[in-house]
Amino acid sequence: MKVEENLKHIESAIHEACIKANRNPEEITTIAVTKYVSAERAQEALEAGIHHLGENRDDGLLAKWDVLKDKPTWHFIGALQTRKVKNIIDKVDYIHSLDRISLAKEIDKRADRKINCFVQVNVSGEESKQGINPEIAADFISSLADYKNINIVGLMTMAPHTSDEDLLRSCFRKLKDLQTKIIDLEYEFAPCTELSMGMSNDFSLAIEEGATMVRIGTALVGQKGQEV
Ligand SMILES: *Cc1c(COP(=O)(O)O)cnc(C)c1O
Repeated sequence: MKVEENLKHIESAIHEACIKANRNPEEITTIAVTKYVSAERAQEALEAGIHHLGENRDDGLLAKWDVLKDKPTWHFIGALQTRKVKNIIDKVDYIHSLDRISLAKEIDKRADRKINCFVQVNVSGEESKQGINPEIAADFISSLADYKNINIVGLMTMAPHTSDEDLLRSCFRKLKDLQTKIIDLEYEFAPCTELSMGMSNDFSLAIEEGATMVRIGTALVGQKGQEV
């Protein structure tokens, strides 16, 4: 399928979810996750009207960057090793996976401007998932006050791989509740207005529960070998 066709389906699903939740579709940013596909396919996504691209590995991001430069807004969405920060820091606009102080320290040190970061939270509690425990998230964010180059724009989570709608909703709701708590702290360095949640299988539910950024790979650009 062409990205353009896929995007039409996704946009109408986003619209529907917004109607259900009484939200404005303009509040939702779609990030095309291009980690499975070529730079050409990523270029096609840009031509279809996507402005935001997401990659989960430093080498994947650099390979796409070589071709697309700063045309898209770049999101780093994967687990980020501290030693890889220097490779990507000049190229990314958003980092979705801040989950430890050592990483915050390195981002702050390497960046020459404010970097928009999401704190990744493991709301489902699955051991295989990255992210910090929701119970310590507020303390974690409080401890970021001294890092001048870190701007906490929001929270990010990955829901479990399940079709259990109640379980998915409860994960998304937990992240939303946590966001409210952080906003109430009124930290200048942590406006926390964004919620990065929802992927190919669950983005409609995530939007109904308050997502402002959805990260969509498979349903939008496809996977390796199934791009066209
Ligand atoms: C791969 C990935 C996505 C997109 O997954 P799809 O199911 O293909 O939409 C979203 N977020 C993160 C962090 C990812 O690694």
